[in-house]
Amino acid sequence: MRWSGQSAAVSAGLASAESVSTTALPGLEVAEVAAMPGHLRTTRAPEFAGMVFHEVLAKSALNRVPEGSSMPFSWTINPYRGCSHACVYCFARGSHRYLDFDAGTDFDSQIVVKVNVAEVLARELARPSWRREMVALGTNTDPYQRAEGRYALLPGIIEALAARHTPISILTKGTLLRRDLPQLAEASKRVPVELAMSIAVGDNALQQSIEPGTPTTRARLDTVAAARKAGLEVDVFVMPVLPHLTDGYAHLDALLSDIREAGARSVMYGALHLRSAVKPWFFAWLGREYPDLVPAYRRLYPGASSKATQAYRLELAARIRPLIRKHGLEFSGSARRSRDPYPPIAAAGVRGARQLPSTGGALPEHRSDPNALPLWDAVPGAPAPTLF
Ligand code: SF4
Repeated sequence: MRWSGQSAAVSAGLASAESVSTTALPGLEVAEVAAMPGHLRTTRAPEFAGMVFHEVLAKSALNRVPEGSSMPFSWTINPYRGCSHACVYCFARGSHRYLDFDAGTDFDSQIVVKVNVAEVLARELARPSWRREMVALGTNTDPYQRAEGRYALLPGIIEALAARHTPISILTKGTLLRRDLPQLAEASKRVPVELAMSIAVGDNALQQSIEPGTPTTRARLDTVAAARKAGLEVDVFVMPVLPHLTDGYAHLDALLSDIREAGARSVMYGALHLRSAVKPWFFAWLGREYPDLVPAYRRLYPGASSKATQAYRLELAARIRPLIRKHGLEFSGSARRSRDPYPPIAAAGVRGARQLPSTGGALPEHRSDPNALPLWDAVPGAPAPTLF
């Protein structure tokens, strides 16, 4: 079954959900729509051109993080599936295939909305067995993507979590977070509230190309500042760092300076990670926008490899870690969400690395040179930094 090209419908007998103003569209067979579990209806709205919302009734809200995961939380909530922020590199793209959507345009535009998620969550949190462990939002798709402006699911979720004394963790690129800052500040008086903003691209043109549905970097920095003004700490994820596009010393230095100025508490970083479902989508973009870089990326992500080569990741670590220190943005013990997967170079037992000059060691230009030799040689046995 394919969903693309479908329009609007109300599944038989399930039209009792909150009324949402929509433009009905022709051409959808109700029987097809009803095949989506819990489906209420599929809608479009004039203010969301090109997007389709599939409203569903969720049976559960809380997802258990698998045992053994390195994530510093045990539970997640995903009010939406698919993400209009449309980041080309998004690691969650493959998850859209479970709904028989594709991992490309469908992921960006076919958004599944769990319209009853707050009510279901409140019921789950009321169970005597609930242990009030931290619940994270933004681990798969962005809770403050554009659809949230229409459905406003987060206030109910925050209210339910705070009412049950459950710590909250939110990672987003969405400036809509500002709407909920007063509520989150209030909640932080009762439960720990951890906020993280993802900001990885300082160049405006590149940012709009590779994250076409997101707010600008400046708008996100301003949101960090607004959160600080509201009394909330914010950590920033400089992820993904894009080889030869955003990994130059000057770019990283300027970006970290802006992040510091906005008042962020700490920075977590990581090199681009390309899962198999994302790789073809990413390389298609790269071929269109930066064809000269395709050979270098093929070398950095050979075959089915999702991680950049260890040599590259060590080179990046050597470049960015001193900058993070310089700007006073090192991970602190109080930043619980961010577990630094990059041990100090000395502790990692790396030998034979070239000494870096005091400038930070990377190329001074905005982009690093794809033909340059790595600054570090891969060392057998050295821990490989991981991300995601
Ligand atoms: S904001 Fe996050 S979830 Fe949304 S497309 Fe970008 S990387 Fe994916």
